[in-house]
Amino acid sequence: MTSLIAKNISKQYPAATGKPLEILTDVSLTLAAGENLAVVGPSGCGKSTLLAILGTLDEPSAGTVTLDGVDPASLDEKSLAQFRSRQIGFVFQDHHLLPQCTVLENVLVPFLADGRAGPEQVATAEQLLERVGLSERRLHRPAQLSGGEKQRVAIARALVREPTLLLADEPTGNLDQSTATDVIQLLLDLQQEHQSILVVVTHSETLAARLQRRGVLDGGRLTF
Ligand code: ADP
Repeated sequence: MTSLIAKNISKQYPAATGKPLEILTDVSLTLAAGENLAVVGPSGCGKSTLLAILGTLDEPSAGTVTLDGVDPASLDEKSLAQFRSRQIGFVFQDHHLLPQCTVLENVLVPFLADGRAGPEQVATAEQLLERVGLSERRLHRPAQLSGGEKQRVAIARALVREPTLLLADEPTGNLDQSTATDVIQLLLDLQQEHQSILVVVTHSETLAARLQRRGVLDGGRLTF
């Protein structure tokens, strides 16, 4: 059974003077395929740090993360990059689309980690663009899209390799309320269709209320 297990994660940063700054303390969570979790807390409480650790972009000072039974800390740099591009999809507040590339090329980016994208990959990307309602925009550049459309492209890009784990950092932070509602619904629908695991970090209680589970990050500790 697919699962994400974080056990007793702590994260400290060295401080200029005195004892290290403790950002996360003993954070544990377990999620199975098809489950989704919102982690809420004010700005600066460590949400992005937690997401980066779950996404193998950062290492915990203590504790372990395993995804599908694999501990990313056991992988060398090349294997870790492959594992991340195959198993994890990211959606950020600022969509991070490549401005010089078309919508279709942006959705194909995760395949480039393994070399060129062939006809099969292009077909997968086109199907996803259809699913997020942007087929007719596939040759547009990001600058020609609305904020909601850009975020829908980012969602298609995150899902194109059918990752086990989908991580979203304030995915609706730059959108108006009505667009935000549509984008989060799309994210949740696709997560259910793909039966991936979804973790969203946000300061928005409105967004958090749409997810199955809600955790609060406060003083470095995650409580449910
Ligand atoms: P959030 O996403 O909840 O706004 P972050 O995870 O971005 O919070 O940051 C949590 C805390 O960790 C902040 O106080 C921030 O200043 C600190 N922090 C983040 N990265 C570093 C770093 N590389 N070195 C030192 N402190 C950091």
